[in-house]
Amino acid sequence: MAQSEPDAVSNAGRHATGDAARPVPVRVRKAGAVAARAGEPADGLFSAFAATHAADALLSRRWNCMAGVFAGSAAFAAIFAGIPPVRSIFLIAAASLLVLAGIYFVRLGNRVADAPWQRAMFAVPAVAVPMAVFGLGMGYWNFRAGEFLEGPLAAFILASVIATLIQSGKRYTLFTVQIAGWSGLLAWFHSPSAVATLLVLVPIAVLVDRMQAAAQRASLLRREAELRLSRRAEDILHDFEESGQGWFWETDSKGMLAYLSPATARLFNMSRGDMIGCHLSKLFETGSDSHDGERTLAFHLSARSAFHELAVRAPLRGEERWWSVTGKPIYDSYGNYVGFRGSAHDLTEKRRTQEEATRLARYDSLTGLANRFQISKTLERLLDAPREAQRTCAVFLLDLDRFKQVNDTLGHPAGDALLTQVSQRLLRVVAERGRVGRLGGDEFQVILGGAQVRDDLANLAHRIIESLSQPYSIEGHRVIIGASVGIALAPEDGTTSDALVRNADLALYAAKDAGRGCYRFYATDLHSRAEEKRQLEQDLRDAIHAGALELHYQPVIETATEEISGFEALMRWNHPTRGMLSPARFVEVAEDTGLIAAMGEWAIRTACHDLARWPESVRVAVNVSPIQFANPQLPGIVTSAIAQAGIDPQRLELEITESVFLADDSNTDAMFASLKRIGVRLALDDFGTGYSSLSYLKKAPFDKIKIDQGFVRGATMPGSRNGAIIASITSLTQSLGMDTTAEGVETLDELELVRLLGCSHVQGYVYDKPFDADEATRRLESGLKAVASGPRASRGPRQTMLRKVVLDHEGEIYTGTIRNISANGAMIEGLWNVPPETTFKIAVSDDLILAGKARWSQENRMGIEFQIPVDIGADGRISLKRGVSQEEGKPRLWRQAG
Ligand code: C2E
Ligand code: MG
Ligand code: MG
Repeated sequence: MAQSEPDAVSNAGRHATGDAARPVPVRVRKAGAVAARAGEPADGLFSAFAATHAADALLSRRWNCMAGVFAGSAAFAAIFAGIPPVRSIFLIAAASLLVLAGIYFVRLGNRVADAPWQRAMFAVPAVAVPMAVFGLGMGYWNFRAGEFLEGPLAAFILASVIATLIQSGKRYTLFTVQIAGWSGLLAWFHSPSAVATLLVLVPIAVLVDRMQAAAQRASLLRREAELRLSRRAEDILHDFEESGQGWFWETDSKGMLAYLSPATARLFNMSRGDMIGCHLSKLFETGSDSHDGERTLAFHLSARSAFHELAVRAPLRGEERWWSVTGKPIYDSYGNYVGFRGSAHDLTEKRRTQEEATRLARYDSLTGLANRFQISKTLERLLDAPREAQRTCAVFLLDLDRFKQVNDTLGHPAGDALLTQVSQRLLRVVAERGRVGRLGGDEFQVILGGAQVRDDLANLAHRIIESLSQPYSIEGHRVIIGASVGIALAPEDGTTSDALVRNADLALYAAKDAGRGCYRFYATDLHSRAEEKRQLEQDLRDAIHAGALELHYQPVIETATEEISGFEALMRWNHPTRGMLSPARFVEVAEDTGLIAAMGEWAIRTACHDLARWPESVRVAVNVSPIQFANPQLPGIVTSAIAQAGIDPQRLELEITESVFLADDSNTDAMFASLKRIGVRLALDDFGTGYSSLSYLKKAPFDKIKIDQGFVRGATMPGSRNGAIIASITSLTQSLGMDTTAEGVETLDELELVRLLGCSHVQGYVYDKPFDADEATRRLESGLKAVASGPRASRGPRQTMLRKVVLDHEGEIYTGTIRNISANGAMIEGLWNVPPETTFKIAVSDDLILAGKARWSQENRMGIEFQIPVDIGADGRISLKRGVSQEEGKPRLWRQAG
């Protein structure tokens, strides 16, 4: 019957009796534990107590026994006092039935009432009524006898003691049992003392009940606290494992799992039951094809030695997971080995973060290429190869030309996009041949392992430059940049990574010096050139402060009238030790260092100031660097220079090169517009040397196009296409209403040609070289008329030959072959990538040494211009020009060449 009681009664009952063998309901234990941790009153325990109190305090599960107890005690009394009167029999039988009815009544109460006092309203009558009826039955028996019979009295006391025992610990009903029973017994005697005793008994009973309740509550709390204490460690471990931060494991002596939490089993998609008894290898990869950590783990397990924080892979299919495992062998009290016990936590995230950090430390986050660290490691590895013969490689250093302009004008996101495209093109060109890395900014490095052939490297460098110089599309803009490459080889140019990179860097500088967009191999004289450049930069700063810059003026002649229409202002630097320097030597340094801004402003102001002294019909053209052009203050500077000099803005012409169109954006258009608003003229300089897109002509309001001297030079040579190109440019400019100046006209033949081809203006040595402002003033005073003078043809006849010669550059000896020669120079083969302007002493024969300067070079060929012209006989004999003796020429030759 007790088993069939409702859950509320049975659960709470188990708890309140404190049956240690049975599990305490988790909900109750948890609530108590949480409250106790937070240092608050243990509400959970009170509610547990209340629940206990409500159900179990009402009626014992053994109360049904009372039906038998009543009947049995009456039978027991009958042995001593004979058959009881009928009324007593009837009342005792009714009491037994009422016991059973009372049980159903209490159950009804549990169902309809919640509060303990409400349930007590059902429980109290359920025990009081049968007890009172039983008391009445036994009392009547005594009453009929006229005295208290020993038998019935003892039987009553026995029954009421059993009822008390059954209800022991139950509030409300414990004393109800006694009071109701005795009330029934004494009811027949109408004894005042009995009534008084009962009346006293009621408040005592209530008082004792309260005390008992308090004691019960205290004991319950104590038990809860003890229970919590005893389970604390277990709870903490349980919470820890549930949180997923780590877990524990234990094996038996055979390595079979003896402990694993359900949460851990879930990690393996299994139930705990399935995993217990399985071998430890279910948790960790311990097979033979495993990693270091797993092999170490297998060793420790077989050696029965402790291990700490071993990184092992989890044997999970389809996902890569790593554990960090710690464990130690365990022994029983007799020292027998009983298994392993340990813990583990998930390492996967940590390892991923570490891998990501390693990746970031090795690779450039923007382009995904190897970064400086990684690429230098690659180079070091190659140079540290075990065998000397393997320590061969080539290093390319690349620098993007004009990248800074794109970054400055289109913004950094565009710059980033450009770098990404550059890296993709680089990877495509280099492909399997080498490793590509980004050193930072617009600097890249390529490493090619193994022995290298210079021709192949030159070819690769050429392809790289060609690929990187193709137009890019960035955020809807068409962007064109270039690239310069410096090449150094191991072991020839260095055997350490530092030396090799430094030398490749010098070669890169040489490539940039040579006009960018080209490659250079390292050569020993580059060190002095780099030092020279650094010195030049320092000197230039001093020169600006000391006012050592000058403007020279070269007349520009109108073809139709042969009169001076204006001058081009060309900057000169009167260097204290090197003499007069051409801008070709220092403008780039000035642009690289930002000095160009101040120099350019000075040039505009000085040119305007000089122009104010000259006739109204004369103009002056000033060269404007793309860096000046990008400066929004340029229109302000121009306006102020014009106003200060008090000249007509139409007399000032600004010469701009095509590179200003690189960052083809609205700023460029706005600059053109504001310069035009001032009223100055605009000329497009060096047309044909850059990207020469006709769309510039459509967009920009140029008044003049200057055809670069590269087209004029050689235009008169048979088979040259330059003439056709000049003709098409002039017809284009004529139809657009622009002027055309042919630059660098040196010979009468060239002058004739450009005139014939329709150039409206000519500028070149055939009329005048640039001279200073005073000379220009004097020149103008003698009238505007200009007279052409100079050689008719550009170069003397060439003679082909194959003659071995020895060349000496600053003590370094090379051998070469003259392929062809004229009075003024020769083409020599055999020296690679010689920087222009390199001076040589050339031993043509035992008694003839010529001084010369490289004018150009391409791969292993260069053009040498002799300091003193030579005579070439019909038999190929080379001799000094008549009238110049070797003795006479020698000191001059050495001085110039040295
Ligand atoms: P550019 O504007 O094309 O100037 C023409 C160059 O050709 C000048 O060289 C001039 O001396 C030279 N030249 C003129 N006629 C002949 C000739 O018949 N034969 C030869 N071989 N050369 C001739 P320069 O003065 O050395 O200037 C070189 C470049 O430096 C200029 O080329 C210009 O781009 C730049 N530059 C000169 N002055 C300035 C300046 O004040 N500011 C800026 N930003 N650049 C300047
Ligand atoms: Mg110019
Ligand atoms: Mg020019």
